[in-house]
Amino acid sequence: MTSTEPEQALSTDVLVIGGGPAGTWAAIKTAQAGADVVLADKGYTGASGATASVGTGIWYVDDVPELREAATASREALGGFLADRDWMARVLDETHARMDELARIQRYPFPADGRQLRGDLQGPEYMRRQRTRVQRLGVRILDHTPALELLTDADGVVSGARALDRTTGETVRIEAGAVVLAAGGCAFQSKTLGCDVNTGDGALLAVEAGARLSGMEFSNAYAIVPKGTSLTKTAYYSWATFYRADGSVLDGAGSTRGRSVIARALLTEPVYARFDKATPDEQLAMRKGQPNTFLVFDRLASTPSPTCSRSPCSPRARCAGPAVSASAATTAPPTSPVCTRPATPRPVS
Ligand SMILES: Cc1cc2nc3c(=O)[nH]c(=O)nc-3n(C[C@H](O)[C@H](O)[C@H](O)COP(=O)(O)OP(=O)(O)OC[C@H]3O[C@@H](n4cnc5c(N)ncnc54)[C@H](O)[C@@H]3O)c2cc1C
Repeated sequence: MTSTEPEQALSTDVLVIGGGPAGTWAAIKTAQAGADVVLADKGYTGASGATASVGTGIWYVDDVPELREAATASREALGGFLADRDWMARVLDETHARMDELARIQRYPFPADGRQLRGDLQGPEYMRRQRTRVQRLGVRILDHTPALELLTDADGVVSGARALDRTTGETVRIEAGAVVLAAGGCAFQSKTLGCDVNTGDGALLAVEAGARLSGMEFSNAYAIVPKGTSLTKTAYYSWATFYRADGSVLDGAGSTRGRSVIARALLTEPVYARFDKATPDEQLAMRKGQPNTFLVFDRLASTPSPTCSRSPCSPRARCAGPAVSASAATTAPPTSPVCTRPATPRPVS
């Protein structure tokens, strides 16, 4: 940059880079502690990032020792016994506290069945409420303002960041007492829903400022994707049966356990899914719970198929190519969306 280019200047106690769940909670907590806070997001805080477009399963476990132990042991096994129990306990505590706040202060409309069910959040609604709370706490939000580089003082200590205000084209120099990097992961190559903004900027900014990264090899989340779409929302496939083109059920295939069976099969043949395990009441709840899931199936119903467009049980999802796509993965293989839902099955290339 040359000195003749226009540059805005800001100064704050805390600069938060990224406005997803991590960034907005950081902004909320630092503002509550009395700090002056600026939050800069490359997109639009509340609508940008991985959570804002998805349904998010929450590791919310009732505060009962036996339940917590069972949940911890189960995740420990799932993670190949690499996880740290103390960290898991912190996550459980933190999740409880934040969900309580969401219900109490942000009035998040958790579904209720005698008591609130807090195991799941709808990303768009959650993040909309996060933005509102951040604003109410007086945080200055800079939308469409990607951070470009961290600033350091004479001792090499991070002292802010330089960002680009895309609404004006000017750069913004933000001096800050502390900088929180919350710019998400590096999943843009995966084409996963909401992840086009996740270009790994936070990690890169940190490395440029001298940080060392660790644990980067452990990111691998895969999702099931309707062919030709970017709908990497997998929750509802728990209600699906997976089968081959000839109608035979794919043994061992499943949404939470059995994705590798699907992936293996897709190397050689198309895989279909039918949401046939949901009761009529569940079907209605599913439609209400994640409308954008069905939007895709409805749009794919280009041939007349009234039941397909109304019921999650009806669609026959046709899958071809690699069944799973990476979500939030740093070294993700390219996503190959897998299923289309033709009303009349056709051969798949
Ligand atoms: C399909 C899918 C399903 C998922 N399901 C679950 C689930 O069930 N349960 C669960 O716990 N997690 C789930 N996740 C993961 C979860 O969404 C992420 O872990 C979470 O969003 C990470 O939050 P974050 O704030 O770190 O990043 P993000 O939510 O990705 O937010 C990062 C923000 O940083 C901004 N940003 C990026 N670069 C810059 C920059 N240079 N300057 C300024 N801003 C920048 C982006 O615009 C974005 O708003 C899912 C993810 C996907 C994609």
